[in-house]
Amino acid sequence: MKRSDVVVIGGGPSGLRVAGRLAAGGLDVRVLERKARIGANVICTGIVGRELFDDLGLDRGSVVGEIRTVRLVSPFSTDLTYEHPRPFASVVDREMFDGGLADAARAAGAAIELGVTVEDIDVRSDGLVVEARDGSGEPVRRAAEMAVVASGVDPGLQKKCGLGRPRDFLNGAQVEAALDGPDATTIFFGRDVAPGGFGWAVPAGAGKVRVGLLTKKEPKARLRRMIETSFATLLPAAGEMPIRTKPVAQGLLSPTFGTRVLSVGEAAGQTKTTTGGGISYGLVCADLAADAVVNAFRTSAFGAASLAEYERRWRKALEKEIVVGYYTRKLCARLSDGQIEGLFHLARTDGIVPIIRERADFEWHSGLIFALLQRLSFMRLFRDARDRFSPGPGALS
Ligand SMILES: Cc1cc2nc3c(=O)[nH]c(=O)nc-3n(C[C@H](O)[C@H](O)[C@H](O)COP(=O)(O)OP(=O)(O)OC[C@H]3O[C@@H](n4cnc5c(N)ncnc54)[C@H](O)[C@@H]3O)c2cc1C
Repeated sequence: MKRSDVVVIGGGPSGLRVAGRLAAGGLDVRVLERKARIGANVICTGIVGRELFDDLGLDRGSVVGEIRTVRLVSPFSTDLTYEHPRPFASVVDREMFDGGLADAARAAGAAIELGVTVEDIDVRSDGLVVEARDGSGEPVRRAAEMAVVASGVDPGLQKKCGLGRPRDFLNGAQVEAALDGPDATTIFFGRDVAPGGFGWAVPAGAGKVRVGLLTKKEPKARLRRMIETSFATLLPAAGEMPIRTKPVAQGLLSPTFGTRVLSVGEAAGQTKTTTGGGISYGLVCADLAADAVVNAFRTSAFGAASLAEYERRWRKALEKEIVVGYYTRKLCARLSDGQIEGLFHLARTDGIVPIIRERADFEWHSGLIFALLQRLSFMRLFRDARDRFSPGPGALS
């Protein structure tokens, strides 16, 4: 049986980043990825903050578009265009983006095994054994000192090794289509479009647009309806269009460490609870996970107590964002279409846009949320929303 220092389960952005960092730190690392090709058929719009590339030393070769202007469409078709002073986000081709991270991991010395689905992790006193199957169903066993679970939203493995699992989800649906226009990223709001979430159309280079939505239930049917209403030119192909769906983990979870194991990325709930974006938080936490694993090898301390520092560090970075975003989104899910329309009206008349221009940050949302809540008009509207459906005093406080 091959024995490595660390087995990383999942070759998405978070797992590949951890693997690269660990291999660069001198450890023998093996990534086990279920898919036959890194980044194949990923269901993702691929929007990341522009600074991410410089901050984490990533290549910009996968970028297919930049976002500077966003058009917001209300439930009653009120149109609001926000233009930032400069581009603030990039749209990537996920297969190329993930491929770049895989190349970096391999260059640092990590091995990547494709078409291998991990089914179990057996943690023992002297190491662990990962049980998996290859593409033809043959059993594969890999031994290691430690494992990093980076398997995304699929919670089976976390349960098996006593790690926290996501308990709340939104459901995403998306198609990528050849479409003339829209030129700007467009976001659709309303209970008919995507209750509890929002819809989008994001230009993704070479005449392609990613049209999708995030909602609580029936994402596929709702996306078809959004296409019928807002993208009639897509309709001839709508019957055959491969609408693909995937859940997005929501909310803080714990523990993300245990004896000889850590979880990272969406597997650890490290996603933005406002928008469902998870690439950047996953990468930031991958670096923290790699620090913790390198430290465990340096001190030969693989127990849960010594790995707990990892969770303390990532919570310090993300907890406020995840919690504030979670409750804000829950509150927004209660807004009636009339109240959403009211927000559009406020945005036009109540000096909101300068606040957005000053406080908006693509990755960190709590600053803007708090700034907006300090506006009396906003506060009133959200208080109304809180009281809607009369959940009782203090239900959301
Ligand atoms: C419709 C939609 C749009 C989105 N848009 C954005 C966006 O614009 N920006 C953004 O930042 N985020 C977006 N996200 C979220 C983003 O895609 C994820 O948060 C991100 O991919 C998480 O990265 P990860 O590496 O943690 O997990 P993943 O990317 O899910 O990678 C996990 C990997 O593990 C593999 N795996 C799973 N189980 C096993 C197993 N048992 N054995 C071996 N391998 C396994 C999977 O095949 C996968 O390759 C979107 C999500 C959806 C659904």
